[in-house]
Amino acid sequence: MGCAGSFPAPDSAASCYLIDTGSFKLVLDLGNGALGALQRYVSLDDVDAVCLSHLHADHCLDMCGFSVAKTHHPLGPRRRIPVYGPPATAERLTRAVGLDPGTGMTDAFAFVDLVAGTTEIGPLRITTAHMNHPVETFGFRIEHDGQVLAYSADTGPAPELVRLAAGADVLVCEASFVDGPDLPADLHLTARQAAGHAAQAGVGELVLTHLVAWNDPAVTMEQAAAAYDGELSLARPGRGLLGNTTTGA
Ligand SMILES: [Zn+2]
Ligand SMILES: [Zn+2]
Repeated sequence: MGCAGSFPAPDSAASCYLIDTGSFKLVLDLGNGALGALQRYVSLDDVDAVCLSHLHADHCLDMCGFSVAKTHHPLGPRRRIPVYGPPATAERLTRAVGLDPGTGMTDAFAFVDLVAGTTEIGPLRITTAHMNHPVETFGFRIEHDGQVLAYSADTGPAPELVRLAAGADVLVCEASFVDGPDLPADLHLTARQAAGHAAQAGVGELVLTHLVAWNDPAVTMEQAAAAYDGELSLARPGRGLLGNTTTGA
């Protein structure tokens, strides 16, 4: 739904992915701008669960609008759904939306603390691991019907990401940086580093995401291709993966 890194781009919302099995719809991250884009593909009433990788604004802030849509619908409050996120997700989002603590947002959402490990969410088998980012951040391995998708969320270089993505059909991996001399440590991956993680994990396909508007996409692709010889592409809004035929709108 959105693949812009750190802030929305002219042609993309910030991070948001829809995992749709046909009978179950999971929203993975809901960054700024993404709530609008999401509605091109799914009714908000049909979202069954949300997972938030971490509490940076570009991954969670449109939960504020989602809460309004759930709580103030003209037909009455909408179905309460689970929201999995780092501890303190409810407090953080309640502050962001400007509600008194303990009101409003918990009518719309049942918050569940994410921990590292494996759990079932609907028909999805989901394994999470801590990534290398300044706030608590989870990467995801999502398994369903014999298919495996891994998602880095935001991370600097992380051996945990290689383990999480081992043998995945697709790794959706952040590539916020291009090569440079003074990149901050333990924050984000360069495209080349993302490709290195994909190669080590032996994934079937690498999709680069969290693409920041000030980078040249051609440079991102070129630097990743130097470190990974499998199928490689850039994320874009509306693109389907793993047999999902969603197209741009
Ligand atoms: Zn981010
Ligand atoms: Zn972040």
